[in-house]
Amino acid sequence: MSNITENLADVEKKIQAACDRAGRDRSDVTLIAVSKTKPVSDIREAMSYGIETFGENKVQELRDKTTEITEPLHWHMIGHLQNNKVKYLPGMVDMIHSVDNLKLAQEIEKQAAKHDLVMDVLCEVNMAGEDTKFGLTPEDCIPFIEQIKDFEHIRIRGLMTIAPYTENPESNRQYFRGLKDLLNKANEMKLTKEPMDTLSMGMTGDYEVAIEEGATLVRVGTGIFGERNYNI
Ligand SMILES: *Cc1c(COP(=O)(O)O)cnc(C)c1O
Repeated sequence: MSNITENLADVEKKIQAACDRAGRDRSDVTLIAVSKTKPVSDIREAMSYGIETFGENKVQELRDKTTEITEPLHWHMIGHLQNNKVKYLPGMVDMIHSVDNLKLAQEIEKQAAKHDLVMDVLCEVNMAGEDTKFGLTPEDCIPFIEQIKDFEHIRIRGLMTIAPYTENPESNRQYFRGLKDLLNKANEMKLTKEPMDTLSMGMTGDYEVAIEEGATLVRVGTGIFGERNYNI
């Protein structure tokens, strides 16, 4: 077995075990294979294992990869997004995970309207208040949802967070729990037409804890494809 296939079997086993511990159904958690910087051949190998959902953080790379791979896959935009790149995304990605400001939401609304479709989005929340990360503060999250909830071409499906890098995943449990609390609070306030159902949280270092805390989307890159090399 190659590394990617072996890694996927290992990740799958850990996802199942975390679901079991939390009394959750495996089908309630979707594994997003984060393929940024990785070649199409790696994506094809993950596809042959049965992976159908991939995450990328750069629009140009998404355009290149979706041009080359024409099989029906689910692509997610998980990275920070500049307004001038939004126009490429409607019809190309299933979901944008990184909505954290009004100007961006307005641009998504405009571009989705042009394509006559409704874009699924998540609001990104910087739960640990790290200076180096994008995202809304937890305090700004609900007011932000109130600002954009009536946009006709945006469907707010839930929340996303990138937890701090850590050797000890337990230290991120509080942030995952906090994100779920925020989602519950917004749902109790009935801010959106339909209750939000998506929590995108957990990466290679901490996805098992995130699943225990209610993640419905986990974004795993290194744990599947190995270390990334940004210099090539
Ligand atoms: C790169 C990236 C991931 C995957 O990170 P790994 O630690 O390699 O699993 C997940 N989410 C976002 C937003 C990313 O940019």
